[in-house]
Parts: sequence; C-alpha cells; structure tokens
Amino acid sequence: MIDVDRVRSETRGRPGLIHLNNAGASLSPAPVLGAVVDYLQLEAEVGGYEAAAQRHESVNRVYGAAASLLRCEPDEIAFVENATRAWDMAFYSFEFQAGDRILTCAAEYVSNYVAYLQVARRTGAVIEVIPDDESGAVSVDALAAMLDERVKLVSVTHVPTNGGLVSPAEEIGAVTRAAGVPFLLDACQSAGQLDLDVGKVQCDLLSLTGRKYLRGPRGTGLLYARRELAQALHPPMIDLHAAPWVEADRYELRPDARRFENWECNFAGKVGLGVAIDYALELGLDAIEQRVCGLATRLRESLSEIRGVSVHDLGRRRCGIVTFTVSGLDAEGVKQALASRSINVSVSVVGSTRIDMERRGLPAVVRASVHYYNTEDELRRLCAEVGALAQSR
Ligand SMILES: *Cc1c(COP(=O)(O)O)cnc(C)c1O
Repeated sequence: MIDVDRVRSETRGRPGLIHLNNAGASLSPAPVLGAVVDYLQLEAEVGGYEAAAQRHESVNRVYGAAASLLRCEPDEIAFVENATRAWDMAFYSFEFQAGDRILTCAAEYVSNYVAYLQVARRTGAVIEVIPDDESGAVSVDALAAMLDERVKLVSVTHVPTNGGLVSPAEEIGAVTRAAGVPFLLDACQSAGQLDLDVGKVQCDLLSLTGRKYLRGPRGTGLLYARRELAQALHPPMIDLHAAPWVEADRYELRPDARRFENWECNFAGKVGLGVAIDYALELGLDAIEQRVCGLATRLRESLSEIRGVSVHDLGRRRCGIVTFTVSGLDAEGVKQALASRSINVSVSVVGSTRIDMERRGLPAVVRASVHYYNTEDELRRLCAEVGALAQSR
C-alpha cells in the first residue's frame, strides 16, 4: 500500500494544483529535487570534474538502481539523455538490408515510426504493423504467424502515449525469443508505473525516460541492452567513452551497454535519476502499479458516466493513462479550460500515434494520466469540471 499522506508531503506541487499530466512529466519528489540541486551547487563550488570524482558513488548509483528496477545487471544499462536517444542507439545499431522486415504495433510512437521510415527509405527494409486482437492490443497469434527468417526486429511500445493500453509484452517476448528474433521494447510510459522484469518480458532491448512515471529529472533516459546482444551491436555513433582509441588506426568498443552512452552528460540529472529509481523501489513497484491502475480504473468509470464524454482506452489490461473526448469540444479546448481551473491534463494528437489514431478516426484525445500521489478527491474534481464543460455544450 502507498502511504498517500507521506508521498504528498514529499511532493511539492503548488497548492490547489491538480497534476494529471504524469505521462508528460510527473512532479519529482523532494529527495530527487534535493539531490539535483545539491549536485549543481557542488559543481558550482568545486568544479564539474571534481564534483564527479567526489560524488562518484551517487553519480553511478543509477546503474545499480536501474538493474534492480528492471531485474538485470548494472552492466546492461546505459544512461542517455532521453528515451528517444536510448531507443535510437539500439535501433540504429541494426544493419538492415533490403527486404528485412521490421514488425511493430499500431500504437507505435511517432519518433520510433519515423526512424523506421528513414531506415526503410535508406535500406529497403519493410515496416509491417502487427494486427490487433479484438481488445485493441497486439495480437500475439498474428505476430507468431508473421515471424520468419526475414524478420530482423520486433519493436513495439509497451504503453502508448495515447492511452491506457498495456501491450502483452511477455507474450510477445515469448514468441520472439523462441524464434530467435531480437525484441526492442519502448517502456517509456510503463517504467515507473508497472512492475517490469526484463527476464520475464524476454526483451533484448528496452528504453525508458526519467521524467515520466519515474519522477526523475528531465533530460534523462536509460537503455537496457541484454549482455549478449549489447556485445554484438555496433552503436551508430561512438566517442572516447563508448570506444576508447587504443592504437592509431583502431578503437575498441566498450564491452558493456555503456557503449551506447556518450561521455558528456547531465551529471546532476544522472544523480537525480538514481534517486528517483530508488524512491520508486522503496515504495515498491507492485504497490505503485496497484494504486495507479486502481485510480485510473475508477476515473474511467466516472468519466464514462458523464453525458457527452467518451473514454477511448483500448486493451484488456490497462494502466494509469486515461484518454477521453467531450462531444462538441476539441481536445485542446478541454485542456485549456481545465488548465484555467488549475488542472493539468494534456492532449495526444494524431501525429503522435498516427496508425492507431487514423484507424479510430481520432484527431486528438484529452489525456489525464494519474500517478500514485493523485487522490480520489482530485479525480472527483476533474470529473466535476469535465461534467460542467460537457453540459455547457
Ligand atoms: C514520451 C515517449 C517517448 C519519448 O521519450 P523522450 O524521453 O521524450 O525521448 C517514447 N515513447 C513513448 C511511448 C512515449 O510516450
């Protein structure tokens, strides 16, 4: 169980503000903020390199913390500036050729999909969208039937940016592992709200961001790369850290996942992300998942009882992202009206998950993403405001 009073007391949040944009960026808890500010102050006092040497353990804590979070080894973790670059470093390491198949899902995120398009244009690889099952999640049977020796990569999003859908990652992992096809999982929205175990999921590569459900600093992200695969992949870009220059005409790639890093990074952010992951681990990912999913389920129920409101989340299993539309109002207008009443929600537009949104004929949805520090009372106030907006139509 989450001690809501305690987590609220450790969450600054301006009084009266209801923050339901946790899928955009959640509010960092006090220990994260404190660690980041302290580190920046030390850098200003003693110098950046000197601060890093003094705080070596705090700076490197993120590897051990992430290994506990994902149930992997610290040498399978790379720290990078965001989830997109983490994902890119993995994806662009594959040497695609004409006719290679990349299998993805309908709810795939824009930045991943444009990378497929770029690689397809450059190499002649083909992108194929795995059909959904009747719940709107990836059909694992359809995926299994598509797998053959031309499939170079299966790459799906665990929780899409535009809804509460949770993809059946473990089932996907089981069929891809059995077929010997690499599996890349975008866990940007699931990390920090769902209990993740890369051994159970059987993914080979996984990307996540710091600022969303993990409550870490902005400008931080991680890549998990399974050891055997990390050693086989040649990153698309390298530097002195990823690939030490050992002879005049030769470099040697680092043997671990840190070959996907670059040397210079946001050290304060790195410290802060380690603290954020420890904070989540201390609360317990199963407790977090239960609270987040429980709040979101009740929010979906309440919203769907309001006349003129449609809830749009797909899938049998759902998480903390709740999406809806209000008939006769555009999503941006709803967001702004709520903002004027101190309620932060966001809008997910067709261009973020185009395949899925076009299929469903949705130009945009309002996204209310709940975290464990949100309260039932806040959700009631959201519903009251949405109800008033719906009636004003
Ligand atoms: C936010 C998001 C990303 C991108 O994360 P960044 O840290 O902004 O690069 C990737 N995938 C999904 C599903 C997202 O929601």
